[in-house]
Formats: sequence, structure tokens, C-alpha cells
Amino acid sequence: MSELNMKERFLKALKGEKVDKVPVLSVTQTAIVELMDKTGAAWPEAHSDAKLMAELAYASYEVCGLEGVRAPYCLTVLAQAMGCEINMGTKNRQPSVTAHPYNDTANLKIPENLLAQGRIPAVLEALKILKEKTGGNVPVIAGMEGPITLASDLCGVKKFMKWSIKDKDSYNAILDFATDACIEYANALADAGADVISVPDPVCSPDLMPPAGFEADLKPRLQKFAAAVKVPMILHICGDVTAIIPAMADCGFTSISIEEKVKDLAGAKAKVEGKVTICGNVSSPFVLLAGTQDAVKEAATVALEAGVDVLAPGCGIAPDTPVANLKALVAARDEFYK
Ligand SMILES: [Zn+2]
Repeated sequence: MSELNMKERFLKALKGEKVDKVPVLSVTQTAIVELMDKTGAAWPEAHSDAKLMAELAYASYEVCGLEGVRAPYCLTVLAQAMGCEINMGTKNRQPSVTAHPYNDTANLKIPENLLAQGRIPAVLEALKILKEKTGGNVPVIAGMEGPITLASDLCGVKKFMKWSIKDKDSYNAILDFATDACIEYANALADAGADVISVPDPVCSPDLMPPAGFEADLKPRLQKFAAAVKVPMILHICGDVTAIIPAMADCGFTSISIEEKVKDLAGAKAKVEGKVTICGNVSSPFVLLAGTQDAVKEAATVALEAGVDVLAPGCGIAPDTPVANLKALVAARDEFYK
């Protein structure tokens, strides 16, 4: 067998097919200040400018050795296109939603020409640039907020939580509306060149939504979303998701991405066997940001020994993370196979 290129290896590993070695990359946000300084492509401009966005993404492959390129760097692109107001953040702080377009669900409407709204054209252009730059050898990963997080952004998380208990009609309406928008956007990301779409949906976390509610109301929307998108997708949910791992595995995504807060990775693997693979779960805040290179290698080795399918940060990489620690993550994978 001739050696797999990075894209082939990642796609196979995601599907649970045999690979020569576990890929190492980030399915969550990748931009760090050290790379912004090196490339001159910095936040907040790189959230809106296609060339800067692509350049910063490419640097995590070129400089750190991560085996994929991923853009954009926030969970607000679709929310903004759908009418949310956004604070664009700073060089080391991600954009956030500051105002929500819907108080009720009487007039839910996806904007005409959704794909021409806000920063969507810049994201699509950045993916095209990355596709060309990597020549099809390195996987291009698009990131986007999931339908549940989008729904909560559209009406505000407080109202969203209230509806989930007291107003099921509004709750169902906003969830369906957000799911339809996600489908349209995700397929456009695929058309623009994304080989894989990574979908953080933090509002699904058991820290916010009870597991029974995930099963009853959120899983069906995630299933509809996954079934309607034409490229493999990864579902990322933050926090200790141990209680919902079997339900996450039933959502129809190709893979799931979990944090180190899931203590028993091998146990999680056993629960999802034959359904999905697992990406993760080296701690972004405690190891990659705050740890030594040796600590990174140790955590990576623990994840590899537990059978992780794609070695990756557990959640979005903190912007102040050193390049040296991301290189250590790659080195740990290489040393594991020596
Ligand atoms: Zn997360």
C-alpha cells in the first residue's frame, strides 16, 4: 500500500477504516496569536477577509505540522447572516453574539440570498483558496455552529431555555428553522471545497441541556441536519458529555469530538463502536495552553493508547497557546509509532 496523504488518512480514520497512523490535527478552532504575528493575518480582520482567513489557517499546517487546515475561527458566521449582531472581538478574543433577531417565532424567515449575507462569502472564498493551496493533499475542514447553538443565538439563550420547558411550539419552531439554515449553509461550505465540516454545538452540552432533552428534542434535529449534508461531519459538544455519548453516536455524524472532561475515553470508544469514531481529547486550556511540551506528549499518548481515532485538541485552541505545544502534539503522535 502506497503511503496515504493527509487527506486520505483523515477521511479514512474518520470513517473508522484502517490507517497507518492516527491523524493529528484540530477539528476545533486553530488560530493562535503566535501564528497571527508570524503571518500578519490576525484577528479580528481574519474573521472577515478571505485571504487573511486562509493564510492563518494554512499556517497551522505549515508551521505547526497539524495535518489539516480549518476555517473560520468562530461560531458566529451563520448567526450573523441570519440577523444576529456580533461583537468581532480582539486579537485573542473570539467574536460573540450580542443581540438576537427574534423575540418570538411568528415571522421566522431565512434571508433571501443567505449565502451572500455577512461574512459567508468570505468564508466560502477562504475555503476555495485553501483547497487550491493544499492541492487536495491536506484536508480542508470548515467549522460552523450547530443548529442548536444557532437556534439559541437567534432568540437568546435565556428565552431558548425557557421555551424548552414552557413553550414547546416556539421551541420546536426555532429549532426547525435553525436546522434548515444550517443545512443550506453546510452544503455551500461543501461546494466551496470543505472535505469535512466540523460542527461545534456547545448549547447541547449537559452543562446546559438535560440529557433527556437532548435525546427527545435535539437529537432529531441533529439527525436531520447530518442526513441532509453531502460531506462527512463531526459533532463537537463541550463539557463532560459522558451521559449523552450514545445519543451523540446516533445523530448520523461520521465522528464526534469530545473534551478531556470525558474521563473514560476507552469506555466512550466502546459505547460508540461501529457507529462513529472519536476525535480528541487533549485539554485545550489545561495542557495545550498551560502545560509543558512534556505534558502535551503525555496527554496525547494517553489519548492514543485509549484508542482515539483522530488525535486533536479537546476543544477550540486558546489563542495564547504556544506553537511549540502544537508541534509537541504532532511529535507525540510520531513518537507513538516509532
Ligand atoms: Zn468545546
